[in-house]
Amino acid sequence: MRVVAVEEHMATEAFLRVAHGLEVVPGDETEMELMRTLERAPASRARLTDLDARLREMDALGQDMAVLSLNPPGVQPYPAADAVPLARDFNDALAAVVRRHPGRFGGLATVAPQDPAAAAAEIERAMGTLGLHGIMVNSHTGGRYLDEPEFAPLLAAAEEQHAPVYLHPRAPSALAPYRDYGLPGAIWGYQAEAGLHAMRLILSGALDRHPELTVVLGHLGEGIPYWLRRIDNRHAFAARTAGAATPMPRLSLTPSEYFRRNFVITTSGIDDPDVLALALRAVGEDNIMFAIDYPYEDPAGALAFLRDLPLTEAQRTAIGHRTAERVFGIA
Ligand code: MN
Repeated sequence: MRVVAVEEHMATEAFLRVAHGLEVVPGDETEMELMRTLERAPASRARLTDLDARLREMDALGQDMAVLSLNPPGVQPYPAADAVPLARDFNDALAAVVRRHPGRFGGLATVAPQDPAAAAAEIERAMGTLGLHGIMVNSHTGGRYLDEPEFAPLLAAAEEQHAPVYLHPRAPSALAPYRDYGLPGAIWGYQAEAGLHAMRLILSGALDRHPELTVVLGHLGEGIPYWLRRIDNRHAFAARTAGAATPMPRLSLTPSEYFRRNFVITTSGIDDPDVLALALRAVGEDNIMFAIDYPYEDPAGALAFLRDLPLTEAQRTAIGHRTAERVFGIA
């Protein structure tokens, strides 16, 4: 079976050299200290930057394709004046990789939401000139979220250019209760942050303003499939009881209807058949894509999970490659 994995991180030496020399915006220091430590460690640095080794590993495992993205949180911790050219340079390098290995690598462009107009222009360039397959946004930017009015040009460009927005986790913007026990990371903070961001897009009415937008969530939907019925139920309650102190935007659909219409989820970092079964019942195999989350998860384990799952062949091929081909426009 053809296998396409869609949350596969990389970096270039040029990107890391420039990025590690930049000042980080206030609030992002702790997260970036951790990420830079990891990016500097020779073993993990090589796994991010050596794409020939990556191809050999994919060959050995029977993985046909990887849709690549910059290591999180991308350019978002940097001032706009630094982040905008950094994103452009990285996207040029990513597009060159994809051009050199068509059929093996796809690419999600990086943008700097700090400058929404520049991000919109970069989405147009990435989907046009560069021939990339979507964009990745690493959740909040300086504590701001994509439903806020300033980001409307970014969402409009993604919708117009048919650029799926992979909403990838990062450490939460309100860090205080997460500081202990490793909570900011993927133990809990990542899914809390990305799930929150997705819920803001749903509840704000942003998806009424951008009905054709596709948002991709990793980790089988960052917990949202588990909560869907309660979210609908409590949203109806909140809408009925909303007052001046707690205004609720009027929505044309229920939250779960937006989730099924505008979101596609991936298996990154999840190897639990019960959670996949729940996700399949919630959104169906046409809205689920395989992902490894390289280099943070074990590729062999993720591929074994995909192959050994008790699925119909139609489900396995949809999750293994067909949904990704449709969503990202991969031939
Ligand atoms: Mn990831």
